[in-house]
Amino acid sequence: MKYQAPRGVKDLLPPDSETFRRLEDEIREVFGRSGFREVRLPVFESADLFSRSIGESTDIVEKEMYLFSGKGGESLALRPEGTASLIRAAIEHHLAEPGRVERLYYQGPMFRHERPQAGRLRQFHQAGAELLGSSDPDDDVDLIATVSRHAQAMNVPASRLLINSMGCPNCRPAYREILVNYLVKNRDLLCETCQRRTETNPLRVLDCKVPSCQPVLEAAPHLVEFLCPASRNHFEQVCRGLEGESLSFTVTHRLVRGLDYYTETAFEWVSDALGAQSTWAAGGRYNGLVRHLGGADVPGVGLAIGLERLLLLRELAGTLPQATRPAVHLAIHPLEETARPYAHRILAALRNQGISAVGIFGQARIKKAFLQAEREGALFIGLLGGDELSAGTITLKHLGSGIQKTLPAFPPEELAEALRAPWTP
Ligand code: ATP
Ligand code: MG
Repeated sequence: MKYQAPRGVKDLLPPDSETFRRLEDEIREVFGRSGFREVRLPVFESADLFSRSIGESTDIVEKEMYLFSGKGGESLALRPEGTASLIRAAIEHHLAEPGRVERLYYQGPMFRHERPQAGRLRQFHQAGAELLGSSDPDDDVDLIATVSRHAQAMNVPASRLLINSMGCPNCRPAYREILVNYLVKNRDLLCETCQRRTETNPLRVLDCKVPSCQPVLEAAPHLVEFLCPASRNHFEQVCRGLEGESLSFTVTHRLVRGLDYYTETAFEWVSDALGAQSTWAAGGRYNGLVRHLGGADVPGVGLAIGLERLLLLRELAGTLPQATRPAVHLAIHPLEETARPYAHRILAALRNQGISAVGIFGQARIKKAFLQAEREGALFIGLLGGDELSAGTITLKHLGSGIQKTLPAFPPEELAEALRAPWTP
């Protein structure tokens, strides 16, 4: 029986795992420099949390969640995204309180049962930032700028920022009615899902990708034309703020979030360099979500970056962080059985000095030991025979230059210093 990773799930092996780690570290720094602090969230939650926050008639909840039952019969789900967990945690731990601003980020694997293809996996990674407690449009601008500036610095190819306004509970119902009337009138030209969602989640219909639906949806009425004065003002301030930052954007009428608690600004970064899976990050304001999940009336705005898609783009741009193999400084090879405990003592002492060291124990022939040391990327090989053992020394060979020296193994500070010094003929 041969085991394979499940479909749509990828193993990350060295050096790709090291590159990915660097990418994650960079995003940590980007969020950190904008004042966000990390939260570590559970990988599974009550399934109900997701259906309530993402919404029943969405792709995620309708067909993409990995559901399972706990021993007590409770319905659980692997997290398909991070916002719901973060808001749940913020409410639970009293971080989402009126008058208090919290900047939090998360990073980690997400799970969605989708058809795997380039840039679309069943286990993928997101890094997301959420700002709770402010409804100021300049916070939308600042959050967008954080990601856009990073994309610019990393030369993310063909990246475009799309934005739209979702309005608010004052103005959206009227638009929804206008949209529903329009969709009902054109019902026969829409796909089955769109016909169904016209009843359950009409805004989400605008997001449909089925080719035959496109002409009708392109001609649909625009939400921004029906905004109330407050929402219009918010949207204009965001647009003006972005212009002031010289960040270009395109107002995209079909960019929507289907649910009531998603309010005001919605935004997305796309790159045509990604092909069909063109969106590499997405976000928006959700002034009603905290309350919807049982918390206080606390506004929020957030975004999530798809790390696999960002990785592809950075690869295309040639700005992928270089994964440098962690150097193995020294490979120690005992030449005799009796030198083995001595080898362990030196390994431990040098590692405590911050020197990376490996033991080469399984090679009977010295030639093989040298080959293994080279394959492991060692700078030095250290040989321990009977002489070294009785004298308390180690015979070091610098693999680059061939220079050989026998030095005292203890105190380890001195040996470490010698290993760090340049070895040139
Ligand atoms: P899509 O329209 O591509 O399915 P989405 O609207 O479902 O995206 P969001 O829920 O907004 O995506 O997630 C934010 C980001 O996470 C996306 O822009 C994308 O970069 C990434 N993402 C989402 N689903 C996947 C996936 N299955 N595999 C890899 N990345 C993903
Ligand atoms: Mg999706």
